[in-house]
Amino acid sequence: MINPDPETPICSAKGCRAPAEWVLAWNNPKIHTPERRKTWLACEEHREHLAQFLGVRGFLKDVVRFEEWQAPEGA
Ligand SMILES: [Zn+2]
Repeated sequence: MINPDPETPICSAKGCRAPAEWVLAWNNPKIHTPERRKTWLACEEHREHLAQFLGVRGFLKDVVRFEEWQAPEGA
C-alpha cells in the first residue's frame, strides 16, 4: 500500500496515506479574506469526515474531484 511516487498527493486526514480523490475548498472568515481558498485533500474514505468537520464550522465552500480541481480555472 506504500505509494512510491512522491508527487502523488495524499489524503489530509491524520495518519492517512491514501491517494487523494477529492479536494475540499474552505475558508475561515475570521482569518481569511472571502475570496481566499484553503484546500484539504481527501481519499474516498475520509471525504465525508473532513467535509463534515469543515461544514459544522461553516468553513466548507466546495468539494470537487481531484482531477477536476487540477483543470484550468476560468480559461
Ligand atoms: Zn484518507
